[in-house]
Amino acid sequence: MRLSRYFLPTLKETPSEAQIVSHRLMLRAGLIRQEAAGIYAWLPLGLRVLKRIEQIVREEQERAGAVEILMPTIQLADLWRESGRYDAYGPEMLRIVDRHKRDMLYGPTAEEVVTDIFRGFVKSYRDLPLNLFNIQWKFRDEQRPRFGVMRGREFLMKDAYSFDVDEVGARKSYNRMFVAYLNTFSRLGLKAVPMRADTGPIGGDLSHEFIILADTGESQVFCDRRLVDMPAPGPDVDWNDLQSIVDQRTALYAATDEMHEADRFDAEVGEGDRLTARGIEVGHIFYFGTKYSKPMKAIVAGPDGKDVPVHMGSYGVGVSRLIGAIIEASHDDAGIIWPEAVAPFDVGIINLRPNDEAVSAACEDAWAKLKAAGKTVLYDDRDDRPGGKFATADLIGLPWQLIIGPKGVADGVVELKRRATGERETLPLDAALQKLT
Ligand code: ATP
Ligand code: MG
Ligand code: MG
Ligand code: MG
Repeated sequence: MRLSRYFLPTLKETPSEAQIVSHRLMLRAGLIRQEAAGIYAWLPLGLRVLKRIEQIVREEQERAGAVEILMPTIQLADLWRESGRYDAYGPEMLRIVDRHKRDMLYGPTAEEVVTDIFRGFVKSYRDLPLNLFNIQWKFRDEQRPRFGVMRGREFLMKDAYSFDVDEVGARKSYNRMFVAYLNTFSRLGLKAVPMRADTGPIGGDLSHEFIILADTGESQVFCDRRLVDMPAPGPDVDWNDLQSIVDQRTALYAATDEMHEADRFDAEVGEGDRLTARGIEVGHIFYFGTKYSKPMKAIVAGPDGKDVPVHMGSYGVGVSRLIGAIIEASHDDAGIIWPEAVAPFDVGIINLRPNDEAVSAACEDAWAKLKAAGKTVLYDDRDDRPGGKFATADLIGLPWQLIIGPKGVADGVVELKRRATGERETLPLDAALQKLT
């Protein structure tokens, strides 16, 4: 992508309404624009990051056996009346009336819709287990939308729903999502800690939140420090038996505010390992048994021929919130530092003298070679001073900057800067490309 032809509306001034660094940087780097309280337009650079996160989340869901669907954003109130949640959900639900005076709503979550889909087709235990997921916009009319996309009103969520014939099966499905979440967050460059959590209005009796530790987080959390650095299990696990992996983590104390028991914390965790911190909830998984299947009659014939309501779980990831969480975890005074896995482009080429033909030719050459090697490139070909270009490059935080100017071209070298460390190196173009590809 050629920056002179791109749409990268960066801001020089720090927006005063943004209280936390990720929100400030998302506005300044031209990732998003607020259109109404808690409602954002995604600008080109922000959209690229959102799509990359979405894709990693998708791949790990599929690896764990979940199947992607796409459910509507607008739902019928009658489905929520069936489950009994229509009145219970309260003012966070955006309620809509259509021209026929039918009550509709903008979905804050999709247990009812997915249960309706399930009961329409699945009649036998032989079709289970089943896990359906979608990555779709949700709306919650939050009391205090703030911190940019971290607490938006409209936000992108991955929500998965598992269906099993009994509790034993449902716990296996739960474990698959538990491990998928550990792997997902690790691929995003984040250290997420699973913590015992309250089930809230979704209901049920087994639940974990996945929390990223950050001073700006809205949750108060308590955990055994050893959980923070425990590596993710990775893809090469026995997906049919994950209990030991889950047990290894749930054996260590970790709880959110609502579930915290101070006595147990002190008794179970050595003083040096006790960690009290703030955290960002990036994922939440639930097992809630027959809470929806019973009232909504999602029933299958069991192995003995008898009808049973299915056992369900639901599993959410805050896809758009994750961008804020990643920036909170990875930035410096100059701007964002994207982990390679989610960076909007792999490399930024900075042309220090765009009206010098030899320099431009060298830049185009480097770009073509990077492209051939499968790398995505943002080429700063703008007629602008080097200082401004360096500042933009640091602000938008691409992992690598390839800096090409007249002196280097004369000497047959380029400069390569690694954004994360600030480390710069002068070397021949081919050697630089070798490092990048
Ligand atoms: P919170 O405690 O932050 O209000 P929640 O517990 O209400 O979140 P869940 O119902 O568990 O949210 O939804 C699943 C995931 O969706 C959350 O773990 C979070 O990552 C994301 N999420 C929830 N509300 C928002 C929001 N207002 N803006 C962005 N992401 C959100
Ligand atoms: Mg909430
Ligand atoms: Mg919560
Ligand atoms: Mg939650």
